[in-house]
Amino acid sequence: MPSRANSSVYDRLGVPTIINAHTTATRLSGGIMRTEVADAMREATQWNVDMATLEARASELIAGHTGAEAGYVTAGAAAGLLLGTAACVTGLDPALMNRLPDTSGLKNEVVVPRSHRNFYDHAVRAAGVTLVEVGLSDRFAGAGVRDTEAWEIAAAITPNTAAVLYVAGPEARPPLAEVVAVAHAAGVPVLVDAAAQLPPAANLKRFIAEGADLVCYSGGKAIGGPQASGILCGRRDLVMAAALQHLDQDIHWEQWNPPASLFDKTRIPGLPHHGIGRPAKVGKEAVVGLLTALDLFVAEGDEVRLARWTAAMEALAVGMQGVRHASVTLVHDRRRPAIPTVHLALDEVAAGMTALDLIRRLQDGVPSVHANPSRVHEGLVLFSPVALRPGDESVIAERVRSVLG
Ligand SMILES: *Cc1c(COP(=O)(O)O)cnc(C)c1O
Repeated sequence: MPSRANSSVYDRLGVPTIINAHTTATRLSGGIMRTEVADAMREATQWNVDMATLEARASELIAGHTGAEAGYVTAGAAAGLLLGTAACVTGLDPALMNRLPDTSGLKNEVVVPRSHRNFYDHAVRAAGVTLVEVGLSDRFAGAGVRDTEAWEIAAAITPNTAAVLYVAGPEARPPLAEVVAVAHAAGVPVLVDAAAQLPPAANLKRFIAEGADLVCYSGGKAIGGPQASGILCGRRDLVMAAALQHLDQDIHWEQWNPPASLFDKTRIPGLPHHGIGRPAKVGKEAVVGLLTALDLFVAEGDEVRLARWTAAMEALAVGMQGVRHASVTLVHDRRRPAIPTVHLALDEVAAGMTALDLIRRLQDGVPSVHANPSRVHEGLVLFSPVALRPGDESVIAERVRSVLG
């Protein structure tokens, strides 16, 4: 296959590069890292630091960006869900940390609105808890207009409830503030999965401001950090509990001299051993990469980012203009107002192929182009700007033309 510029390491490995017009999907290797972030990561690998000191500095910087008391760099939003749940179960008790995922006799239930269930909540269950689904989301069936309501969450909270899980999104119900109110009335923390809720950058502060106790974000999506990075932020005691179950603590108590911005040594009787978060280890280069990307994400700002993405999608729409059997539109989606996408509506009968066929042919060609298949049942093929390299638009348009004629 023809090699694409700058793909030399993949050429050497014999692995073809792809064009990712889907999103920063994990299976498609996330997105394209800014060179500033990659350079910072390379530099980070050439020195050693104490990981607790590095994470403590990360805590201060993440606190500044989010308004939370403390923050932590995780191996992804899903890792943040695992660590956050573990923190809600154990609090600052190192004996309980050592016991996980055995939660017998502990607070070991997490209440979640039924409409918030998704496959990432496996990370919550991995801490040893059971999910308690609440409500009947009949607005999705078209049979009704309601979703889970806050009083139903209140009714499901028992002495066994470790946390309430809330998956943030433009259509998430009930409103987070209402969930926080009933959970806090019962003394239960709220853990928010905000993995993909950036941009807008204001969402870095929003969920904490609405009262969430812990919030996790993906670092490998729009922030543009390492593919396997994320943020957990929130209450100081809970972030400390998460950090204790994640960092390597193979050290004598007497020599453990942790930075005060992340740890309060007076609050624990001893150090737990490797915790439940250990398999989701984070390297120094990932911490540095995430922090660098976070600064750049905030500094660029929503307007400049939107203009950059819109320009890429306009170029793609222009490139596909007049393509046979399809109409092409640039859409500012109601659900994802901050990310413009190109919708190709295929006349499946005239084209003699379905939207899924088109996606497969784009995927199977050279270079392989990956579009978003989530609406193929409507005859729609979606293209996102978030993970594109400059110049990808014209290659995609050419491939679509060659498939549709
Ligand atoms: C992407 C995503 C995750 C996982 O994020 P990672 O950073 O890849 O671990 C979790 N929850 C939701 C809702 C997501 O969209």
